[in-house]
Amino acid sequence: MALAQGTAGDVSRRRERMLIDGDWTGGASGAELVVENPGNRNPIASIPRGGAEDVDRAVAAAARAFPGWSRVVPRERGRMLQKIADAVEARVEELARVIAEETGNAIRTQARPEARGAVDILRYFGGLAGELKGETIPLGEHVLSYTRREPIGVVGAIIPWNAPVLLAALKIAPALCAGNTLVLKAAEDAPLGVLWLAAICQEHLPKGVLNVLTGLGEEAGAALANHPGVRKLSFTGSTEVGKLIMRAASERIVPVSLELGGKSPSIVYPDADEDWVVDGIIAAMRFTRQSQSCTAGSRLFLHAGIFDGFLARLAEKTSKLEIGDPLAETTDVGAIINEKQFRKVCGYVEEGLGLPGARLLVGGLPPKTGPLSQGYYALPTVFAGAANDWRLAREEIFGPVLVAIRWTDEEEAIRMANDSHYGLAAYVWTRDIGRALSAAHRIEAGWVQVNQGLGQSPGHSYGGVKQSGIGREFSLEGMLDSFTHRKNVTINLRTPPARPA
Ligand code: ADP
Repeated sequence: MALAQGTAGDVSRRRERMLIDGDWTGGASGAELVVENPGNRNPIASIPRGGAEDVDRAVAAAARAFPGWSRVVPRERGRMLQKIADAVEARVEELARVIAEETGNAIRTQARPEARGAVDILRYFGGLAGELKGETIPLGEHVLSYTRREPIGVVGAIIPWNAPVLLAALKIAPALCAGNTLVLKAAEDAPLGVLWLAAICQEHLPKGVLNVLTGLGEEAGAALANHPGVRKLSFTGSTEVGKLIMRAASERIVPVSLELGGKSPSIVYPDADEDWVVDGIIAAMRFTRQSQSCTAGSRLFLHAGIFDGFLARLAEKTSKLEIGDPLAETTDVGAIINEKQFRKVCGYVEEGLGLPGARLLVGGLPPKTGPLSQGYYALPTVFAGAANDWRLAREEIFGPVLVAIRWTDEEEAIRMANDSHYGLAAYVWTRDIGRALSAAHRIEAGWVQVNQGLGQSPGHSYGGVKQSGIGREFSLEGMLDSFTHRKNVTINLRTPPARPA
């Protein structure tokens, strides 16, 4: 059956619906938006252009569902999430294709791992329901004082397009496991996989517990962020919009979690002039996601002693990545999400080409003719001879443009790594583990990896410092801190005997 009828299914179906109060519905205005396949620029579906009225309905539904849902025994809520995980897993290939088609992310390197990652997240949080525990406080023999982890209420969550289904699962699973109800706003560029996931969720959840809206950020997103019925905001996206969300939260004093941008450093020490490190730099740079990742290690600090040789091998390996049709199994690198982002990335490349001292090692501007010109295909690009104060080294490009910066003094490398308003991820490459850990402890980032450039895993505390965000997700503590509040109950056990009537 097709999504429009309320169950997961065929993406070739044109008109999608939003999920509000258990029903699949269009927007109140009747207006629609078109979702495009970035790999060939063909329209693939239309979605409702949700607005304030739809947000009102969704928040009201979530508020009605909250008392019942919050009283469901946590183990039972967890069991529902586990069933959702099983149902998604049974159809993971179908989901991977939906993701690849709407995001332009290559199916083998990104879309399929993302679909499997969403299953892992649902299963992980489903298993944590029993951990919503409180504490007792030792105030004396005649007092019982304890804390409870209570759900917050209606959560408003807003997600971006770069890993839409994984990020949807990352809001849905902890928020619902903890007993909250949710209104989730999908990104306008990649809502289809999220709606597909919502359809499976709805087969296992009471109505109104999960509501999923589509529409533009300034309309549906802003209305959700500013809705008085929303008791908690969880946002993943740009730092710019994150600031608006935090401002909206401050108006009502509601808690907020923000997962924002990054400009993450990779520091390579002289002893790490090895092929596996070159592979690690390519992985950390997320070239196979077109570097549309907030954790992309996009500033490469290479020791001067190995600079040229290391970069030559990096350029050679990067040039072998196959770019093209996201749905082809042989493709390593797919397409950029939309025309606006594509132009933005090309603008940075053009700027690099014109900078005195910048040396293009691989990539450059995309071809204007041939198969790659049919979609938004950017070339993995590396510039050498960069300075840390270039715009290319300071701003989050969210595209495959890596800048390599030379260093000789370790202190200077760490100072440059920290000279950024972001602080999300970092990568350190050396066989000298003492040195690596000393650097890891001094780098201002929420997550430092040593000798690997992997993605997040369930259970790991993930989030940023500085303008990369507030709060942690992906973990038990993330669920407890971001989706519950602690209530303290204190009882005097030494009450005087009741007077005879
Ligand atoms: P990206 O650059 O990754 O698109 P954005 O921060 O622009 O990141 O978008 C992330 C999410 O935030 C999307 O769902 C988008 O619709 C939403 N969004 C954009 N602008 C606003 C806004 N003013 N208020 C609320 N949500 C917004």
